[in-house]
Amino acid sequence: MRLFTTIAALRCYLNSQKSAAPDLTVGLVPTMGALHSGHLSLIQRARQDNAIVLVSIFVNPLQFGPTEDFQDYPRNFEQDRLLCEQAGVDFIFAPSATEMFGNPGGDSLRDSFAARTETHKTAQTQIQLSSLTQVVPPPAMTSVLCGKSRPGHFQGVATIVTKLLSLIEPTKAYFGQKDAQQLAIIRKLAVDFNLPVEIVACPIVREESGLAMSSRNQYLTKEQKQQACALYRALQQASKTFASGDRTSAAALAIARAEVAGEPAVKLEYAELVDPDTLMPLQVVETAGLLAVAARVGSTRLIDNIILRNRRPIVAIDGPAGAGKSTVTRQAAKALGLFYLDTGAMYRALTWLALKTDTPISDECAIAELVSYSYLEYNLDPASFMLKINGEDVTEAIRSLEVTSRVSEMAAIPAVRQFLVDEQRRCGTKGGIVAEGRDIGTNVFPDAELKIFLTASVQERSRRRMLELKDTDRANISLAQLEQDIALRDEKDSTRLVAPLRKAADAVEIQTDNLTVDEVIDRIVGLYKQRIGPKS
Ligand code: AMP
Repeated sequence: MRLFTTIAALRCYLNSQKSAAPDLTVGLVPTMGALHSGHLSLIQRARQDNAIVLVSIFVNPLQFGPTEDFQDYPRNFEQDRLLCEQAGVDFIFAPSATEMFGNPGGDSLRDSFAARTETHKTAQTQIQLSSLTQVVPPPAMTSVLCGKSRPGHFQGVATIVTKLLSLIEPTKAYFGQKDAQQLAIIRKLAVDFNLPVEIVACPIVREESGLAMSSRNQYLTKEQKQQACALYRALQQASKTFASGDRTSAAALAIARAEVAGEPAVKLEYAELVDPDTLMPLQVVETAGLLAVAARVGSTRLIDNIILRNRRPIVAIDGPAGAGKSTVTRQAAKALGLFYLDTGAMYRALTWLALKTDTPISDECAIAELVSYSYLEYNLDPASFMLKINGEDVTEAIRSLEVTSRVSEMAAIPAVRQFLVDEQRRCGTKGGIVAEGRDIGTNVFPDAELKIFLTASVQERSRRRMLELKDTDRANISLAQLEQDIALRDEKDSTRLVAPLRKAADAVEIQTDNLTVDEVIDRIVGLYKQRIGPKS
């Protein structure tokens, strides 16, 4: 693992890595150090997804108010370095404030060197905020929740994150759901500035007691830690009320506030129910609501939140080619009374459009342009399944041989995948679907209630493929050749840049070598009942 403290070294390293391998994926985990298991979960996720993992450690003076804990914020660089090393991080970027914000006072080279090597604690005084270009997120997102008591905080966060994203140009950047307002603001920032990065949200990691992990928990005594659990209990109680059918903000907030009031040592600053993306207050949760709380325990300010979802369940089925996913998914949807989200049909519709408009599929930029002007409409009910693209019904047309022969080429185009991932998420807003693919549980629906990783040995998948090819013109292919092809495809699928095949950490693996399709369906139905309850 390497450590860089200067922008020059960071750039040099990234340039050399990228020139050796232009398709290199880089995962960035921005932190303020004092690492704990919450940070480590982000690092682990970044490690799974990327060739290179970079952790930035920077206590950002811009995001602390004048009366806040910038000076006292926990700093433990040696331990952070050790934890990063153990977690398989490739490099840490830990600049000083002077390195990040320059030296606007125009100090001499010597002073500037001294400032660079000083500890962060004294750095705040070196920065002239008024001489910096800053990023101003929409006031509607920064004037609510924590923004009310922390004016300027999110501007400071947005500025530093923009700097890190533009310096590092990561493929993906990882943020914790713990800081839900920060996450929403960064997502918006990435969209509004068209930044070519995927913002990945990671679930809140909690102590066994339910207390959300935070660097600031170090300020708490043992007793205060126990008292602070009232926040998690409040969220849980509200979530129960929500699950029992009362989806009003009034009910959720009343329960949460009452629970916190039961613990006098915890002084609630706010409890609010807002839209998780726009942060606008909600009266009733139609699809998803962010219930967020902030409180002080002693002088320590703590935040926590939970997403309340009002949607039917989603079942995500991923796995390698030839494991029987499409048959299983279609039948599982029927058995569970859910809709089958035919993602293949979506790729076919775009392929059909490219062929119809004579757009060369080899011209990725022309395809990106075409896709940007397209819209899909569906009826997912199998009894009346219908798919339209740009107003034209293509339900039958997408099954043509010509479409079949070009669809995988089309699916490899990043702009097509991005368009369809957004489209699939839109279809999942209200839930009630079973979807299959390679990254449904890891990327498209990371919140799916049930994730299945359907697999079979290379030998078994080759044997099944052999049977499928029996009456076709490829019938004389040898089993050994098929095995070689499938092993190669597995390798390609799991190392590809776009949507690599990966088992989600919370997916249940079903090895189907010795199972019939009916047996696989029975298992899925069993898991569904166990996890979610009776079928719809
Ligand atoms: P910080 O060092 O507090 O700025 O946090 C760095 C990143 O870690 C942010 O994206 C946080 O949301 C995330 N993070 C902090 N605590 C947790 C937690 N308990 N669970 C998940 N992510 C967290």
